Amino acid sequence: MRIRVGHLYPEYLNIYADRGNIAVLGRRAQLRGHELVVQPVSIGDSLEPGAHDLLYIGGGQDREQALVAPDLAGKGAALRAAVAGGTAALAVCGGYQLLGRGYRARDGSWLPGAALFPHETVAGERRMIGDVLLECRLGPGETRSVAGFENHAGRTVLDPGAEPLGRVVAGYGNDGVSGFEGCRVDRALGTYLHGPLLPRNPWLADWLLVQAIAHATRSPAEPLAPLPDELELLAHGVAAERARARGGRTA
Ligand code: GLN
Repeated sequence: MRIRVGHLYPEYLNIYADRGNIAVLGRRAQLRGHELVVQPVSIGDSLEPGAHDLLYIGGGQDREQALVAPDLAGKGAALRAAVAGGTAALAVCGGYQLLGRGYRARDGSWLPGAALFPHETVAGERRMIGDVLLECRLGPGETRSVAGFENHAGRTVLDPGAEPLGRVVAGYGNDGVSGFEGCRVDRALGTYLHGPLLPRNPWLADWLLVQAIAHATRSPAEPLAPLPDELELLAHGVAAERARARGGRTA
């Protein structure tokens, strides 16, 4: 089957090999006999709430974020409608910040967001940089680990009761103090982790594919056939070990 991906602002938000996340989704879909069809959705393009099974938005520095923020805020209602209708999403770093209500950048300017995630972000003095390890529970009773790398000045504060992507085992996470990392709304995930994120967290890539397929087929999520993933799990282990050696951090 065809899995339709909307890649938001690929020419602006693409640092830290964010495109690697799309490549992983494409390859893992292909190995199961599915095709990932990626459509760029950029400034001035309309976003149709039912048109994509998965939306992706990558990282960027304040400058690029300022360039896309007004357009993205204008797409907010469509984006929220898409996710409410079961579209899956992955937002990384700068894109994650802009899917909240907004971001107060280093120069004091307020960048409006899409208000999908219940959070706000304010840039701090020191950047939070290094390997991160998380504990995540996306399904009932199932705790999985996510390893990645973070590099951000923004401190993201979730609204009370908001669901994080995971709990920080090692690293800073959203703000360096709450112990939370990322945010989840329905099938949409936001995170500071890149590196890129999905090559060393194959279970997370499959979780997103499963959700996207469920949207495409309008049927309940079904597990995908497992893949060997030896190299992926090795990469996960190395990254997790580096993060553990780094230990916990506070901002
Ligand atoms: N400019 C944002 C920050 O530093 C996001 C950076 C990024 O995407 N790496 O907080």
